[in-house]
Amino acid sequence: MKVRRPFNVVRPIADQMVQHFAAQGLVCEVGGSLRRRCKTVGDLDIVVRCADLQSIALPDWVMFHRQGEQVAQGGMLMADGSELNVDVWAATEAQWGAFLWYITGSKVLNIVMRRKAQERGLKLSQFGLFRDGVQVDDGTERGVAAALGMDWIEPVNRNWGVVEEPLRSFTVPSSSGEGFYSVNETERGWVCNCPHHTFRRVECKHIRSVKQDDLERCG
Ligand SMILES: [Zn+2]
Repeated sequence: MKVRRPFNVVRPIADQMVQHFAAQGLVCEVGGSLRRRCKTVGDLDIVVRCADLQSIALPDWVMFHRQGEQVAQGGMLMADGSELNVDVWAATEAQWGAFLWYITGSKVLNIVMRRKAQERGLKLSQFGLFRDGVQVDDGTERGVAAALGMDWIEPVNRNWGVVEEPLRSFTVPSSSGEGFYSVNETERGWVCNCPHHTFRRVECKHIRSVKQDDLERCG
């Protein structure tokens, strides 16, 4: 099972990574669900503006099991004993804009953008937007969007086609005693599959009961 963690758990680790690279005078940016500010985060992806990762110092609190020029993959042990996957990527100044789109996602948005490029006789990859092998974007994220004839999309609005994976899932008996409802804590809050919540989008008694149990457990 792929572990997802609350944004607030991964955020300080990402900040620490950014500071590590900034201290070497390097520009870097986090990607993936963290940059899209999802409530849960899978892996930690970070891109550093440089030509070769082997020419810079990687954080020694991450255990890297693969260390190449373009990507270093590793993990770090979390307080709960699980491992957070960490991928560090290198992108040059010219590749920067396209790489940010690529590393931020979502995957569906990346596919949509690549199709858009094709329709215009262009080729979009993580290395840039090209026409017949000649780069047409200016190396900035906004420049890639402009060259594609797209409006700018804030990272927080790039969750195209992202299926919400519940942070936690609960089963609550219906009050009639017949059957159960499924209550999930998701990236956008609590949802329940009972008619009351499904059709009226209000906090139903099933959600309230799960939250109440939560308070008592933590209290
Ligand atoms: Zn309900």
